[in-house]
Amino acid sequence: MLDLVIIGAGPAGLAACLYASRAGLEVLVLDQGAPGGKLNVSAQIENYPGQECVAGPQLAYQMYEQALSFGGKQTYGIVEKVIDYGSYKEVKCHDETYQTKYVLIASGTKERKMNLEHEEELTGRGISYCAVCDGPFFKDEEVAVIGGGNSALEESLYLATICKQVHLIVRRDVFRADQIIVDRVLKDDKIKVHLKHSPFQILQENKKVAGLVIQNNETLEKEQLKVTGIFPFIGLDPITDFVDDLKITNEQGYIPTDEHMETKVKGIFAAGDVREKTLRQVVTAVNDGAIAGQYISNLKKEGNEDE
Ligand code: NDP
Repeated sequence: MLDLVIIGAGPAGLAACLYASRAGLEVLVLDQGAPGGKLNVSAQIENYPGQECVAGPQLAYQMYEQALSFGGKQTYGIVEKVIDYGSYKEVKCHDETYQTKYVLIASGTKERKMNLEHEEELTGRGISYCAVCDGPFFKDEEVAVIGGGNSALEESLYLATICKQVHLIVRRDVFRADQIIVDRVLKDDKIKVHLKHSPFQILQENKKVAGLVIQNNETLEKEQLKVTGIFPFIGLDPITDFVDDLKITNEQGYIPTDEHMETKVKGIFAAGDVREKTLRQVVTAVNDGAIAGQYISNLKKEGNEDE
């Protein structure tokens, strides 16, 4: 029986691991990808206190090393179900089941799809949800970025350092991103902003992206962009399907918690982007993880004293 199973090795999960394992708990962190979560797909982070400007993967590695330095373990696992047995929980993966006193859900979010024809089959063939990973494939080419939030604008700035031209497609005439990022985008000669436009049709040639038709949302006029890469950043959805049975999510699928990060099921916690909250940032994810890790450690200590 483990003390704590953490689902997700992003900043929230790793911070929780650091706090709980440092307090002596037996902790296992599960993830279906590389530790670090969305840090791994962030080119630069300049709003994490103490780090003026740091590459996402570098911060991910530092967090990972530190989190596991107090005895916590991390392994690969795709969680299919979390079962609540009251005094203990079961975390069921495809080929393994873990029993644990406490569970922390730090599974984060996944990118929303555009729902256009050919989007699925052209993913990896011109459509990418990670500029840091795939940007270099489009060196000196034209690409389109979809969205008007922080992700779309930050990734546009990054792609502009590699590509010949970046077309930024924003569906309204206002951005959702921080003003400092908006200002940088508007000043960048390589980024052409198409306000009030939406992606309409993906063009393909030899099973690769060969263009994008965009539509003016007011006039319905269409324009063809000769892009070879399309990077949609149109928002995120929480990864919580594996806790459907527990009925702990809100209408959007996010998980509400109390101030200790505990969900309405005793002993099951949530932290990071998957939690219902207003500001989703690395710094708020580690905040959640630290609070949960510390609180669970205190519960464990009190439990032991009661025994
Ligand atoms: P957001 O939800 O903030 O923005 C999504 C953008 O995509 C909006 O401009 C939205 O338009 C647009 N959009 C949504 N659906 C469609 C569609 N079907 N077609 C075209 N456009 C569409 O998502 P992000 O991924 O940018 O950010 C998620 C969270 O992470 C936010 O809280 C953000 O602040 C945070 N973040 C912070 C960073 C930082 O601080 N450095 C970096 C990256 C993310 P509309 O505005 O009209 O809804």
